[in-house]
Amino acid sequence: MDLHKHFGLRHVINARGTYTPLGVSRSPEPVIEVASEAFRHFFDMAELQDTAGRVISDLYGCEWATITNCAAAGITLSVAAAMTGTDMEKVAQLPDASGMANGVVIPAGHLVNYGHPNEQAIRLAGARVLIAGDRHGCTAESLEQALGTEGVVALLLTDSRLCQGENVPNPEAVELAHRRDIPVILDGAAQDLRLPELLATGADLVLISAQKYLSAPTAGLVMGRRDLVDAVRLQDKGIGRGMKAGKEAVLGALAALEHRQKRDMGSWEKTKKEEAKAFAEQLTKIPFVTSKLVRDPTGGPFWRVHATFDPEQSGKSATEIAKALREGRPRIFPFETLVEEGTLNFELISLSKQEHGIILNRLAEIINGSS
Ligand SMILES: *Cc1c(COP(=O)(O)O)cnc(C)c1O
Repeated sequence: MDLHKHFGLRHVINARGTYTPLGVSRSPEPVIEVASEAFRHFFDMAELQDTAGRVISDLYGCEWATITNCAAAGITLSVAAAMTGTDMEKVAQLPDASGMANGVVIPAGHLVNYGHPNEQAIRLAGARVLIAGDRHGCTAESLEQALGTEGVVALLLTDSRLCQGENVPNPEAVELAHRRDIPVILDGAAQDLRLPELLATGADLVLISAQKYLSAPTAGLVMGRRDLVDAVRLQDKGIGRGMKAGKEAVLGALAALEHRQKRDMGSWEKTKKEEAKAFAEQLTKIPFVTSKLVRDPTGGPFWRVHATFDPEQSGKSATEIAKALREGRPRIFPFETLVEEGTLNFELISLSKQEHGIILNRLAEIINGSS
């Protein structure tokens, strides 16, 4: 069935990475098979979540794990877990936090907006946000000061290219919180390729989006301390009802983890870099375009291609080129974070070589003025 045709939807080439408004990712065939098969059956969902805990902890050496609707749900439920522990009366009371300790410390530079401000995902649990430092950064002193506030239940850290300023490195921040027995929640939603590094920070809970680079159905992995993971699961009987993962999401996520485990990451990385290089070379054959490879800014094992345009020569600015790309058929979406500097950047790792070709042809067409 051709879904685009059936529902009259326009085709999209997403060169913005795991960009949620464009459908995030494409799943590999084994993951699609497992998620589809899940729809045919009933399961004991508690048993399914126990199995997820076992499979994920075996694969990554964390103490325990569970699966939520998505990483944003994981933030809210992890914060709730830090507030309620396993006290069912408290679970039932949320998001009303009266009489409960509810302070969540976050470095100002870790306040990010991935579609909504993460601050709201914290407040959704009934928590109070305590900001440490400012946009320029957060020193160890500022963090300690915030952690010393009355009623702090957790420190939330973010690992994302969206973070700003000079902040205490995450492993050090974890240590400072642990000195005060404050649990740490680390949101690394788009950082599943660096999962061992995130777990090594010592954070009590690490959050990952399964639908981003892992290419599973939409789901959130919550990995870490058993008592906290148990408390996350208890929220199902409270504010977590609307944040639950379906059977296809749980099984799809497990299939994606197993698929990842079998993949030779070294050769994947090499192939992807060669593809990026070839794309960058082809770009330079288009008049007035220069290109370079840039490593993923968070340290992920892949490269993006930056294309810089010369409006003096071609008469077209990067902004105009981006607009033409968006409005063509198919619609093409590169990152526009550097558009003011005349640069569009392309994340190609989830695209086919045929799609790389479509992007190159379209750029040539736009710049040569035939459209
Ligand atoms: C994408 C993202 C989220 C939200 O993830 P969902 O799974 O879509 O809820 C949270 N935090 C960061 C840093 C993200 O990049």
